[in-house]
Amino acid sequence: MKIHEYQAKELLAKYGVEVPKNAGVATTAAEAKAKVAELGGTGVIKAQVHTGGRGKAGGIKVAKTPDEAESYAQNIIGMLLKTHQAPQGIVVEKVLIEEPITIAQEYYLGIVPDRASQRNVLIVSAKGGMDIEAVAEEDPTAIARLSVDPRMGLKDYQLRQVIADAKLDPAIANKAVVFLRQLYNAYIASDAIMAEINPLAVTSDGRVLAADAKIEIDDSAMFRHPEFEGYAEGSYENAIEAKAAEDDIAYVKLGGNIGIMCNGAGLTMTTMDVVERAGGRPANFLDVGGGASAERVKACINLVLSDPNVEGILINIFGGITRGDEVAKGVLAGIEGLNITVPIVVRLAGTRAEEGAAILAQSSLIPATTMQDAAAKIVELVNKAA
Ligand code: GDP
Ligand code: MN
Repeated sequence: MKIHEYQAKELLAKYGVEVPKNAGVATTAAEAKAKVAELGGTGVIKAQVHTGGRGKAGGIKVAKTPDEAESYAQNIIGMLLKTHQAPQGIVVEKVLIEEPITIAQEYYLGIVPDRASQRNVLIVSAKGGMDIEAVAEEDPTAIARLSVDPRMGLKDYQLRQVIADAKLDPAIANKAVVFLRQLYNAYIASDAIMAEINPLAVTSDGRVLAADAKIEIDDSAMFRHPEFEGYAEGSYENAIEAKAAEDDIAYVKLGGNIGIMCNGAGLTMTTMDVVERAGGRPANFLDVGGGASAERVKACINLVLSDPNVEGILINIFGGITRGDEVAKGVLAGIEGLNITVPIVVRLAGTRAEEGAAILAQSSLIPATTMQDAAAKIVELVNKAA
């Protein structure tokens, strides 16, 4: 689960990590104005969306007066922020109001698990304020790494070494050691799988603080962090995924126009591949899960259809313990009462597939015998409609 910058800074502050003073988040321009006044009349307005590159996309502005803050916030709140990480754009609902800082130097700090070595790795670079992937490509020697041996823990001398390797200003080395130690403590204690401070800002008056913060919490560890429950809300990149999570449906929105509904993650991914091979583009990943009761099928179809890009649906179900005739009944009951204007191709296989096909024969659903046949049919129907 990705958490927002303001939440990450709140979390980090609990572990002693220095962050700029802030007045919290605002959801209206008037609120932003009041909060900047609260900070003494100047403030940074920062869009709270799950993507980097907000600065370049116009999602971060420094206001010199409360009135200026109001007009900046007016522009930012509600805007569709498009960045290279999120080219489809994300609507900004909240802005963080923060004390402006005068940045003298920008550095990069990151912590991620390295699966190959089964250790957490600290990443430090003097080239902060830009995409670390770009730095890795253009100037890989500018990135220093420290792999933490879990048996030994993180030692101060190792921190000094990585800070020296990364060629951070020696004048701030002591502060950087403390900062990294606290960041690491916060990362471990919160079961994070990613923490990124970019930039780590050194101010003109020598403070070392997190100008930006991105943290991702391990979903599998959420049960032991009731304190993060409030963070789950708003952590989805779009409303459909949030609704899916609420209904406990494994759904991922993609960019295409063919809605996909299958059972089992493997079959779903295979179906997506087959659709691609047939020349189509999947609109989503959706695993109905076991059972496929009418109620669940209905919720799934509704979810797929709530994506305005969907121009056709492919349902591909393999009956194991789930019986084909029950799935067919589920699909029929599921679409009952829904106003469906797009073609739906259904392919059933496995236990009682023929009985299922017979049930569907009386409906407007289009039957298919194989996965390839189903993909070809839905691609053709969608293309014909276009
Ligand atoms: P990102 O673009 O989404 O990664 O957002 P950041 O929070 O990293 O902000 C982008 C850039 O805005 C930073 O690299 C800074 O140069 C600048 N910035 C952010 N906050 C401040 C601030 O308080 N003062 C100044 N002068 N610049 C800031
Ligand atoms: Mn940043």
